Formats: sequence, structure tokens, C-alpha cells
Amino acid sequence: MNRPMNIVIAGGGTAGWMAANYFAHKWPSDKVKVTLVESPDIGIIGVGEGSTPTLKRFFEELKIKESDWMPKCNATYKVSIQFNGWSPSSGVKHYRHPFISQTDTFTQRAFEVNCRTRRLGLDTHVTPEDFLLNGVLAKQNKAPITPDNFPFRMEYGYHFDSALLGNYLRDVAVEKGVTHISAVISDVVLHLSGDISHLVTEKGNIEGDFFVDCTGFSSHLLQQTLGVKFNSYSDNLFNDSAVVLPTHAYETIPVETQSTALSNGWCWSIPLQNRTGNGYVYSASHLTKDKAEEELRRHLGLENSDVEARHLKMKVGQVAQHWQKNCLALGLSQGFIEPLEATALHLVQICIEYFSDTLEKSGFSSKESAAYNAFAKERFDRVRDYIVAHYKLNTRDDSEYWRANRNNMVLSDSLKSLISTWFQREDLTSEINRQNIGMHWDSVSWHCLFAGYGAFPPLEQNQPGRGDLYSEQKIERFIQGCALNFKHHNNVLQTQQS
Ligand SMILES: Cc1cc2nc3c(=O)[nH]c(=O)nc-3n(C[C@H](O)[C@H](O)[C@H](O)COP(=O)(O)OP(=O)(O)OC[C@H]3O[C@@H](n4cnc5c(N)ncnc54)[C@H](O)[C@@H]3O)c2cc1C
Repeated sequence: MNRPMNIVIAGGGTAGWMAANYFAHKWPSDKVKVTLVESPDIGIIGVGEGSTPTLKRFFEELKIKESDWMPKCNATYKVSIQFNGWSPSSGVKHYRHPFISQTDTFTQRAFEVNCRTRRLGLDTHVTPEDFLLNGVLAKQNKAPITPDNFPFRMEYGYHFDSALLGNYLRDVAVEKGVTHISAVISDVVLHLSGDISHLVTEKGNIEGDFFVDCTGFSSHLLQQTLGVKFNSYSDNLFNDSAVVLPTHAYETIPVETQSTALSNGWCWSIPLQNRTGNGYVYSASHLTKDKAEEELRRHLGLENSDVEARHLKMKVGQVAQHWQKNCLALGLSQGFIEPLEATALHLVQICIEYFSDTLEKSGFSSKESAAYNAFAKERFDRVRDYIVAHYKLNTRDDSEYWRANRNNMVLSDSLKSLISTWFQREDLTSEINRQNIGMHWDSVSWHCLFAGYGAFPPLEQNQPGRGDLYSEQKIERFIQGCALNFKHHNNVLQTQQS
């Protein structure tokens, strides 16, 4: 092809603008021309305000500085998620799942060995956050920004206002040469081959060589037009609804997301600079919309507030093919695994990266799309397993919802094997390596989950005191020493503003 390839992105939510930026950054406009069409009247979903560390890589790749985008999006740092009330019967009120950083290579072995020893029946120290630097930063409310002489790389994510992030990414993309069209896509027209020929809008037809469906849950191109099937995860993830309510910003802004179990689901609390985002994710088969809102208001102390709640439906699962014909789906149009652990944009990004690399190396062949589809399916399934484990391991007994989750036997073979390895006191890291799934969630994250839930066999009777093989004091001294290098979150955010 002598002319530039024409990529048309349908939809301007976070997924659409992330793809537009990535493509425009990766390829010069004489090679690839990027057009994005979206309808402000339809709008974006407007939730999805927590990330994993993958988003840090996205901004680094695009050479966008935190000091530029974060203040414009009311963004804050995120080093961890605190889970409250998910496993009360094991005596654990809360635990943290911190993002794993380079310094943790010095302490993660101690954590994993203590977990193994504890599974063998000896009493050891197994609180995840005490072994991982971001866990300590979360407790101390410190931002994960290292001074120049700190020799280790920190991993962290962000909290942000999704609408502002979309606007920011739009402006950057347009500056990079992306053509932005505001219009409603009323029809999608196919060639005889079954490929998409053009999108019909009130501003004219938009032709392209390749189309990226970022139209959200409606999946106008891939599912509605090309008829790709959606495979639901409802057998093992029961939540399909959410109700959302903002509260004021914290004076001391936390550096982590809170995830609190409620009667029929859980509530997120995401601290931004100007407000706190909250949402109750629940199963509509177990709780009505009104009861969910009432419970969320009670949880937030907003019973008498006239702040309006937003109610959302979630389509949880993934498409049978993420890339079909000349169309790739990204974001909610390709699937969604509910918001626990905030993995949606992470999946968007790794799919964008994999697709771009494929295109660069091999172009559009059916062999490439098959390999891409296998990659995306595996990613979704393994991320789902980690989320399912949170429900499976719960020890709540206050509702049928929690009991049904605990008793649910619809689990993948991979997850069944991880759970049985843990409870049979075998080596979990070896099992993760055997299954080659460490790139989805690594061994430390799995240990955080099991240990955080207090999911251990009973202690042996008459044991000779604590069985820690590593000196707790040495580990504490090391991590606390590392933490001295970090500044308070509020101070770092204020410096960005100035
Ligand atoms: C309750 C909830 C909580 C979530 N929390 C998180 C989280 O913490 N972290 C995370 O990473 N993700 C989270 N997500 C997912 C996150 O919201 C999405 O992945 C992210 O916002 C990207 O959405 P999107 O761009 O795919 O779709 P949308 O934001 O829905 O955008 C769709 C776009 O398509 C356009 N469009 C649709 N139809 C047409 C048409 N016919 N013509 C023209 N334009 C059209 C719309 O105008 C819009 O621009 C959450 C999702 C839900 C439901």
C-alpha cells in the first residue's frame, strides 16, 4: 500500500483515546493515518478511575510527564488496594495487596517462606503489607516517588477523573495529528468479503482499512455488526450492577484504593484530589437497585444527602474473538471483568501493545489474528481467575450472596489447581511457574491474596513458638529504611501543582 494505512477508531472513551495516542505515537502519519469518531451525545461510561502500574508505562512510552497530566486530571498516586471485611471468620479485618516493586525482591522470599511454614502449621508472620515496600508507603501515606539517588524502580498506579483523562488524551492525540470527528455512527457498512467498508454518520461516511471498536458495552462494530459472540462470566462472577456516589476529598489524601465488602458485593473508594469516588458493585440477582443505593448511602453516611446516585449495568465476560475481519475491539466492547483490582485499562493497554507489535512485524493475516485472539482470551481468563479467587475464598456468612460465592464450583482448572496447591501445602510458586501464568499475577500477588484472607490450615498444637525463618526485625528495618526516602503524598501532589 503506497498511501498511509487508514485506521478508524469508533468511540472516544478512555480506551479509544489510549489507542489513538498509542498509534499516533508509534507510527508517523505518512505510514498510518488515525481518525477517531465519537458522539458526545452518547457520552462515555464515566467510571473507571483506578489503574494498575501498566498505565505508568503507557505515559512513559508516550513521554508524557506526571507533572503535566496528573494535575489536569485531579490524579493521585496508588500503591495498593486495601481489602476490608472480605474474610472476617479467619480473624483478618483487612489486608493490603500492594503493587510489587524492585525492592521487594529482597523480602518476598521471606514472605513466601513464612506463608509456606504457616501452611505447615507453625505460627509465622504473614501480613503481606509488612513485607512489601508499597504496603508500608500505603500505611504511611507516602507517594511512591523516589529521590534521584534511590537505586530501585517503584511500581505504582494512579487514581484519576476518567472524564478529565479522556479530555486530556484527546487533546494530546489531536496535537499528534489524530483526526477527531464528533458524530453518531448510525450504520456500519460491510464489503462483500465481510470486512468493514465504512461507518455512516450525519457528517458523512468514514472509510478505513482497519477499524477499532471502542464503543463501550454496545460494541457497535464487533458484536452488533460482525456478530461476534459474547461469552459471559456470570457463572463465576455474579456482580452485574453498580451504584456510584461521590463524597468530598480527603484532607490527607490516601495513596491506595479501599475495597470494602458489603452485604451483596463490595464498595470501592477512590481518592482524587477534588473528590472521592465511591461505588457499590453488586449482584442484581441478590439485591435490588434501591436496596443497593440505600446500603451505599448508609455506608458513606449520605442517608440525608441529596447527591444523586448513578446506577450502571455491567456486562461481565469477553468476546469470542477480539479481532475479527478488519476490526479489533478494545475496552468495554471486548469485555470486562468487573472493577475489583482495576484491571480494565491494564487489559486495554496490553492489547494495544500486542496488536501494534503484531501489525508492525507481520501485518494483517488470519494467522496473526488467531494468535492475537488466543493471547487476549488467555489474558482475560487468567485475570478473571484472580478476581474469582477473591470471592471463592471469602469467609463471610451474612448473606446468601457470600455463601453462594464461596460454594461456587465453576472454577477454571488453573484456579482449582492453585487453590489445591495452597491447601495441600505444596509450593505455590512452582505451580505458578508450571502453569506459566506469572505474567498475569505473579507469585507474590497470589501469596498476598491467600495470606491476606487468612486462608491457612489450622495451626499445629504444642508448637515451639514462632517459626519465622527470617529475622522480622531485619526486614522491618530494611523496609522502614527504604520508606524514609519517600515524601508525604499531599506534599508531592502540591509540588506538582506549583
Ligand atoms: C462500575 C465500573 C467500575 C470500573 N472501574 C474501573 C477501574 O477502577 N479501573 C479500570 O481500569 N477500569 C474500570 N472500569 C472500566 C472502565 O470504565 C473502562 O474500561 C474505561 O472507561 C474504558 O471504557 P471504553 O472507552 O471502552 O467505553 P466508554 O467509556 O463507554 O466509551 C464509549 C465511547 O463510544 C462512543 N460511542 C458509542 N456508541 C457510539 C455511536 N453509535 N456513535 C458514536 N460514538 C459512539 C461513546 O460516545 C464513547 O465515546 C469500570 C467499569 C465499570 C462499569
